[in-house]
Amino acid sequence: MSNSVNPFESLQSQIDDASASLDAGDDVLESLKHPQRVLETTLTVEMDDGSLETFKAFRSQFNDARGPYKGGIRYHPGVNRDEVKALSGWMVYKCATVGIPLGGGKGGIVIDPSEYSESELERITRAFAVELRPLIGEDRDVPAPDVNTGQREMNWIKDTYETLENTTEPGVVTGKSLDSGGSEGRVEATGRSSMLVAREAFSYLDRDISEATVAVQGYGNAGWITADLLEDLGASIVAVSDSSGAIRTDGEFDARAVKDHKRETGSVVGYAGADEELTNDELLTLDVDILVPAALENAIDEELAADVTADVIVEAANGPLTPKADEVLADEDVLVIPDILANAGGVTVSYFEWVQNRQRNYWSEERVNEELEDVIVTAFDDLVSAYEDEDLATLRVAAYVVALRRVLSASEQAGHWG
Ligand code: GLU
Repeated sequence: MSNSVNPFESLQSQIDDASASLDAGDDVLESLKHPQRVLETTLTVEMDDGSLETFKAFRSQFNDARGPYKGGIRYHPGVNRDEVKALSGWMVYKCATVGIPLGGGKGGIVIDPSEYSESELERITRAFAVELRPLIGEDRDVPAPDVNTGQREMNWIKDTYETLENTTEPGVVTGKSLDSGGSEGRVEATGRSSMLVAREAFSYLDRDISEATVAVQGYGNAGWITADLLEDLGASIVAVSDSSGAIRTDGEFDARAVKDHKRETGSVVGYAGADEELTNDELLTLDVDILVPAALENAIDEELAADVTADVIVEAANGPLTPKADEVLADEDVLVIPDILANAGGVTVSYFEWVQNRQRNYWSEERVNEELEDVIVTAFDDLVSAYEDEDLATLRVAAYVVALRRVLSASEQAGHWG
């Protein structure tokens, strides 16, 4: 893992890689490489023992040419301004890749949530929601879960916003619990799109996914659901990891049983069905057919990339490969399904949730999953067409070419004020 690579610079270099195929000058592209604004705030919150603690928090609003800013809120000690800026830009190009009418934003609090009680986390979340209130709204900016946040935090943000605004506006955040206006299928959506792109990639390569072996790095919501759904297609999960370590089996893991073990003990490590414990780097270089990085940015740098032996990489995480790792993997003909397609299921079902909230009319899980499949398979086909017809270097370049064309077109049609 490389901590020295700045994810914001990675985002900008991904845009540069697509620029040769775009009919747009550098001046126009420059405007699509920076957020429109970034909120940086300090939250001061009372702890359970009566003391005060301060937390740094951010919200980056990158671009709203195609619709309201949209993207998650992350709770992690590594959150920083450039990370949030990068993640907000990836949201813009993610929404454009899959063709949903939303822009991109992202937020985060610098915190290790495991060190705080539930009531402390509620006060911290509400304090952030108060700071966010002037910026968010169902037509302005719509937060959602990200690393270490979920339905509980979204329900708190919704309640804080609605109370202060004296209204009901469930579409101000997505990823809520069902009874608070959430959508069926939202929790599984990121893993579901990762599974769908793996399935499509195997059919593109004319290979049988039911014979594939899989290693999953990161066993949170995205990682474990991807594993579970790939298992349903007949693939074998042979190694998984989390921040405490990695495990491997000679046979195949039962994805749900490993998840249950993690829920009970806090980690996948120690699972009785494992034959061996590995390091994170050993897991990432295992000889498997599909590698699913589902944790944080920069999981694979160029050095590690040289040792990767998987045939297909499905980026369930945002930004797991450094740009130099991307080059190494392209040279080795590893098919990388880029994050802005692979994990776009989350924001796609967030979009469905937002539509349902606005209509106050809710869909069945079956409908959500069918419409999600349609969006992801269509986007996969669009990328493959651009990749082949325009002879582009990678599917990531194809994704940026397709997405930037859509954002550029909306920006040009809007015109310029200044
Ligand atoms: N945090 C997720 C992502 O990175 C979901 C964002 C959303 O649903 O708005 O795509």
